[in-house]
Amino acid sequence: MGSSDLDSSQSLSGDRSWSIARRFFLTSFILIVAQSGLSLAISGKLWRDFTASHLNFALSRELLRPLNLVDNKLDSLSAQEAMECCTREDYEYFLSDIDLADGKAVMISGSAGLVPGKGAQSLYSPERLREFAHLATTSKNRFSLVDFRDKNAVAVKSMNLSGGPETGSLIYIRPIYNMSLFNALNRVRLFSEIVLMLSLVILLAIALTYILKPIRSLRSRISNIQPDNLDTALISLEGQPVELQPILTEFNRMVQRLEASAKNQKQFASTISHEFRTPLTVISGFIQSVLNRAQDLDSRYRESLSIADKEAFRLNRMLSDLLDLSRADNHQLKVLREPFECILSCREALRLAQFAFPNNPIRFDESGFEDSIWVIGDPDCLVKCLENLIGNAVKYSEPMSAIDLVVNVKDQCVLFAVQDYGQGIPGDQQERIFERFVRADGVALRRGESSSGLGLSIVKMLMEGMGGSVSVQSEIGVGSRFTLTLQRSLS
Ligand code: ADP
Repeated sequence: MGSSDLDSSQSLSGDRSWSIARRFFLTSFILIVAQSGLSLAISGKLWRDFTASHLNFALSRELLRPLNLVDNKLDSLSAQEAMECCTREDYEYFLSDIDLADGKAVMISGSAGLVPGKGAQSLYSPERLREFAHLATTSKNRFSLVDFRDKNAVAVKSMNLSGGPETGSLIYIRPIYNMSLFNALNRVRLFSEIVLMLSLVILLAIALTYILKPIRSLRSRISNIQPDNLDTALISLEGQPVELQPILTEFNRMVQRLEASAKNQKQFASTISHEFRTPLTVISGFIQSVLNRAQDLDSRYRESLSIADKEAFRLNRMLSDLLDLSRADNHQLKVLREPFECILSCREALRLAQFAFPNNPIRFDESGFEDSIWVIGDPDCLVKCLENLIGNAVKYSEPMSAIDLVVNVKDQCVLFAVQDYGQGIPGDQQERIFERFVRADGVALRRGESSSGLGLSIVKMLMEGMGGSVSVQSEIGVGSRFTLTLQRSLS
């Protein structure tokens, strides 16, 4: 699976699954909200029950006085009057001496209907009085709270008059005076509960950030690991959270296995390159000497030997590239960083390229350079890089297509551009082609040409070794321009 596939599959699974932190945060958040809601509901219920029982008790006591007054009047009725009891007039007569202040009111509800006491009608509407009467006579303990939490909250209580069911009930109505204070207290309670809840959520988020800190730092350490720095990839267990230590132990073991395998691989590449080169040089030498000496060679054999010679040369070049890469991996590749005259290197690269590709016009306009230009780097490496780029320019263009070598001085840098007018490289491939063994998708190779995907990675490695860089600009069907940049030497 390519790295981009891996990235996309990872982001895909990231879309589908939630991180542990997110799950933990959400679960805790739900628990905090549920706990706060439950505690508000329970304390609200307790508070209401406590207020209700307290008021019920108070109203029972307050109701005794008017009840006694009514009962006294009932008791003073003659036998005849008691028999006929009770009409609305009787109720009015019973209530006539009861005068209450502060919004309190009484009324009698019985078989003769509902009769309000003094001032009750001016305090409450007839519908409201009827509602109070209904609640006071039908509720548990004959007590009820009306519009609890409202600023006009009212408590109602009823008791039977002593004369029997037909004499009716005395109903006592009284506002809950401290309701606005109670409500204010309730709001404070609600507000403090919300503040507490938010503080818990914020503390939770901070705690999570703190808990996840070691994981984040590990992630950034691991993401910096490259195949060439495996020796620094081991992670010390000291100071790491206990939960992560077994994972890190396994990770370190895996790094050690990878390191051993990478070492074997490099050793293998280096040995193979060495071992192949000598016989290949011998084969090449013999082919050359036969081609040079045997003038009367049959043209078919001559052609076969030429092909063999060309292939041996190509193989030799590939082995030399592999050797360079394995030397670089083992930090044995020597790349100089010293001042040199770069136009000489350009001429040398041009000479070699013109010899190797006689059919392609390879142009180098030197007219702009009257003074010599000095750069920091390694002259042999610059020649090698230019040769490589010109070779690619020829390989990926039409036969006999022109190639331009252009040198520019820009600020403190010197730029060497190899421009071709070939097929170009697709935009999404331009980064990748500098990786080892990578060939651009969508770029066709001409018949008879071969490709290993090593050339540009060597150019990149050599340029970086000299403290410079390589970049590409390319357009499909128009051509490609590879630019090498080196530091200018002003000495
Ligand atoms: P190779 O040419 O041996 O495959 P390189 O590392 O030199 O290896 O190049 C990598 C790939 O980049 C090539 O396979 C080719 O697809 C693409 N490439 C390089 N130079 C050019 C160019 N001048 N024009 C078009 N494609 C190029």
